[in-house]
Amino acid sequence: MTKRAALYLRQSKSDDEGIERQTERTSALATARGWAVAGTYVDDDVTASKPRGPKTAWGRMLADSPELDVVIGVDLDRVVRSTRDLNTLIDHGLSLVTLDGEIDLTTADGEFRASMLAAIARFEVRRKGERQTRANAQRAAKGGVPKGTRLTGYTTDGAVVHDEAETVLALFDGFSTGLTLRTLSRDHDLTPSTVRTILMNSRYAGRRVYKGEVVGTGEWEAIVPGELFDSVARRLADPARKTNRTGSTARKHLGTSLFRCGECADRPTLRTAGSGGRYACIQCHLVRTMAPVDDFVLRLAEARLTQPDALAALTPDVDTDPLRDEHATLTERKATLAGLVADGTMTRDDVREAVERLNVRLAEIDRVLDSAGSPVALLTEEEQRSGLAALNLDRQRALIDTLMTVDLLRAPRGRRGFDPDSVVVAWR
Ligand SMILES: [Zn+2]
Repeated sequence: MTKRAALYLRQSKSDDEGIERQTERTSALATARGWAVAGTYVDDDVTASKPRGPKTAWGRMLADSPELDVVIGVDLDRVVRSTRDLNTLIDHGLSLVTLDGEIDLTTADGEFRASMLAAIARFEVRRKGERQTRANAQRAAKGGVPKGTRLTGYTTDGAVVHDEAETVLALFDGFSTGLTLRTLSRDHDLTPSTVRTILMNSRYAGRRVYKGEVVGTGEWEAIVPGELFDSVARRLADPARKTNRTGSTARKHLGTSLFRCGECADRPTLRTAGSGGRYACIQCHLVRTMAPVDDFVLRLAEARLTQPDALAALTPDVDTDPLRDEHATLTERKATLAGLVADGTMTRDDVREAVERLNVRLAEIDRVLDSAGSPVALLTEEEQRSGLAALNLDRQRALIDTLMTVDLLRAPRGRRGFDPDSVVVAWR
């Protein structure tokens, strides 16, 4: 059956391309695909930036959707303003294709999901980026307190929270005297990555930063002296320190011990083959080149994270009360252990070992409670802006592990290029 196409066009004052030209180009695409043009729908810019009710061309097009199969637009921005709009189209049984080729929901099923998700991801990131860049540039220029997630040590208005500020200062002091991130995280009940994030934040030195560059002095009170901040930054950047990190947690590849073999029944996780660059299954000798697989998985994960329900899907559904009780009990036990050393009941070494075990469990509980209390902690605004590719490997791996399972199949023989069907993703 011949597909029935709707041309959806948007009139804009600033547009260099008029409606006439948009009509010509979109109907040419319909002709090229062998589709019949069943209707032309034109909204103006003002309409498109407000909710588009039933009286708008958008509303009429949705009402006509039983008589339509596919919507043709010039580009994504002119047709939809959010993933919700895109979902609305899909819910009405409509496909969408744009002239610039950014999105094509009419292709075969296998490519469909990947191309749609990737397009949505680029779209959302671009829109957020544009809005926030404007707002942040203005704030930075004025020397105001940067907006966003509240920074430990400050209220959202930039006033110092004294007990938190003491912790922050203790972290800087401790690290500059040679304590490791691991030790500091244990002593202050924080994760090592939180400690690192704090140590890298120039705002504690009262410095105004925009896009990674110090652009001046802030109007808020500094918690850390500039010299101390700089010495900590030097030590963090020292490559000699990094090589001292234990190899067990520092992985070099995205999918090693994470992606699974889709060819073996028991789904073993994959190893890094030889000197790297490829994943391998030690049971069936499946071998896959890393780069295209990693790229595909990251794009899918990023697209998933921009879906409206992503945070809900990522928020662990846990009953926190028993965990809070356990946390209190363990903390109390820690205190008791210290007393046993004091009165000679236990040796210092015995106690140290016991405390370490308690700390491991406490850290686990903290992680669960953190993510249960604030799902946003899973992906900060800044991380959403910069995109998954900009995150460090540990963070990428943790997100992927939370979001999905990835099973690799053998790449089909004789096929050039990457085949998305050879990567089987199941969302958690
Ligand atoms: Zn295998």
